[in-house]
Amino acid sequence: MINFRFTKKYKAENGKNGSGGHCQGKSGEDIYIKVPIGTVVKDAETGKIIADLSELGQTELILPGGRGGKGNSHFATSTRQAPHFAQSGQKGIEKEVILELKLLADVGLLGFPNVGKSTLLSMVTSATPKIADYHFTTLEPNLGVVKTKHGDSFVLADIPGIIEGASDGVGLGLQFLRHIERTRLLLHVIDVSGSENRNPVEDFKIINAELKKYSEKLSKRKQIIVANKIDVMQDENLYNELEKVAKENNMEIFKISAATNKGVSELMEHVAEILKTLPKEDIFDVDERVVYTLEEVEDDFTVRIENGEYIVEGPCIERLLGRVNMEDNESMYYFQKSIKQLGVEDKLKEMGVKEGDTVRFIDWELEWYD
Ligand code: GDP
Ligand code: MG
Repeated sequence: MINFRFTKKYKAENGKNGSGGHCQGKSGEDIYIKVPIGTVVKDAETGKIIADLSELGQTELILPGGRGGKGNSHFATSTRQAPHFAQSGQKGIEKEVILELKLLADVGLLGFPNVGKSTLLSMVTSATPKIADYHFTTLEPNLGVVKTKHGDSFVLADIPGIIEGASDGVGLGLQFLRHIERTRLLLHVIDVSGSENRNPVEDFKIINAELKKYSEKLSKRKQIIVANKIDVMQDENLYNELEKVAKENNMEIFKISAATNKGVSELMEHVAEILKTLPKEDIFDVDERVVYTLEEVEDDFTVRIENGEYIVEGPCIERLLGRVNMEDNESMYYFQKSIKQLGVEDKLKEMGVKEGDTVRFIDWELEWYD
């Protein structure tokens, strides 16, 4: 189904706690989410593209599960045989990602609402889009395969009409504009019948201005103008004006009536020929080939003094606290050892910590003993 919306939280397992009996904790299972081909994974925070799933069966690891905790034997030393504590499993890290579906259509139908895009699609493919005489009838993109009588075929996508201001997020347009990013050719459908007081030349300009605002690259994509509804054309001049503009813009123009099928197969055959000359649109450049790993988090911490308290913060402290059970003496011992290894102890001493001072590790308040 094309119309998917992920608002869900998916959670790879946390690492299992290590335990006594020399058992190592199991690492958390990675989870796999099935997505449709054409899904682009973006980091919600930075907007960077992390993965582009454009091939069947492609898998990408975005977030690994938590590492397993070490069992008690790991902590055994010559003086401390099989200690009483085991490290708890590490929490997996959390990351918010956006899954965006980009259609993999060869040709996109562009144009104002109600100009006949859905009608055209329904005439040339077996897709059954909703066709109605009101705006925004198409609320999700529809696509179908066009097969010409010469045996050529291509994928045609009907995208809901964009309206003026779409590139600023007004109306429904913008969220759908991204669907045409990957098409190789745009069929710009324009109603030349003069109904609804539409001016074809104006419509052409508005849509192209929107396109340009949204994406410079997209605005340069090859466009063929499709003058539709010629069966009910009231004023031939409206078409003639549009033809002039087409010439000025070096674009081809086809006269059709989607409803009565006039000129439609000629147009589709021409599109099939044009497509043979156009390169396959590149898939997205993946901004950063990153898998977020726990190791990637730096051993970074800060110590500051606030109201006489030493406040220790940082990702490594958070991770450490996630592994430590403060209730447990042995675990506390591990905590103190880690604090020393991380250099927190030295830093505290350097800042003048003395007996009785309060040291706060995120939400843990401890008292310093010399
Ligand atoms: P979309 O919003 O661009 O997808 O437009 P639709 O395909 O839903 O068509 C809008 C209205 O225009 C519908 O009532 C169609 O029947 C009508 N329509 C579409 N193409 C033609 C055409 O070639 N001639 C006539 N007379 N009406 C058409
Ligand atoms: Mg439609």
